Amino acid sequence: MPAQELMCEVTGFRELTPTVFEVSFNPLPALTFEAGQFISIIVPGAGPHGRDLRRAYSIASSPEGQPVELCVKLVEGGPGTNFLYKLRPGNHFRGMAPYGDFVYEPKAERHACFIATGTGIAPFRSMILSDHFKKNAPLSTTCLLGVSEEAEVLYDVEMCAHPGIRWVPCVSRPKGEWKGYRGRVTDYLRSLGSDFPWLETDFYLCGGGAMIDEVKQILTGLGVAKDSIHQEVYFKAPK
Ligand SMILES: Cc1cc2nc3c(=O)[nH]c(=O)nc-3n(C[C@H](O)[C@H](O)[C@H](O)COP(=O)(O)OP(=O)(O)OC[C@H]3O[C@@H](n4cnc5c(N)ncnc54)[C@H](O)[C@@H]3O)c2cc1C
Repeated sequence: MPAQELMCEVTGFRELTPTVFEVSFNPLPALTFEAGQFISIIVPGAGPHGRDLRRAYSIASSPEGQPVELCVKLVEGGPGTNFLYKLRPGNHFRGMAPYGDFVYEPKAERHACFIATGTGIAPFRSMILSDHFKKNAPLSTTCLLGVSEEAEVLYDVEMCAHPGIRWVPCVSRPKGEWKGYRGRVTDYLRSLGSDFPWLETDFYLCGGGAMIDEVKQILTGLGVAKDSIHQEVYFKAPK
């Protein structure tokens, strides 16, 4: 499906955590996409010399559902996120979609492991909700989400409610009585040991570049083939 320009009407806005918000919208013409793909939002006049800017956001909702939902981390001083943060029901914005090939590729007799940091959970939520995933479910699904504090865990209630998903939020610096895993997703992966079916699993990594690089290093060290590792890098760690 080639990308096309969309006029999007905002239908909802809600804070998901202290730093992440959700924007819901209905695009015109209607958007057909595969779970895991992204939209390129046009940020009017925010570029050099008043030119428009573009920013990419993974679609967090199912291809079969409406409205379309995005899950966005508010970045201080960031033009894209501050533009989206001000949108309210009835407002309009423009975007181009769908883009990207970070989609679930079913393979016979394989497990799937989704690994995200922060809003990198968005494409995995879309995949897990999609008919494509449900009809072609892997042998087992593990979904890891890395955040710093417990208040930043996204979609916890709904992820816990998915039958067949082993949902593991990993909190690296919990502030209170966090009863879940304490540490980073990379610590959790290292702790899994030889019971985990490393060589029979397809890994999908999404979020910050530093996490993705470290996870790839761990996986290749364990003998996981490069073509079993799929990735979507949201941003690179500053040098
Ligand atoms: C394919 C793709 C899909 C993406 N999907 C999402 C998404 O679903 N949700 C989302 O929040 N972002 C997503 N991003 C990141 C997004 O495109 C923007 O880079 C981000 O929102 C910052 O834009 P900005 O203009 O506000 O700030 P900028 O001034 O462009 O960015 C400032 C800095 O913020 C940091 N940063 C960027 N994104 C994040 C983030 N998600 N979490 C923490 N720090 C960040 C980086 O260090 C970056 O250099 C995606 C990026 C790509 C390439």
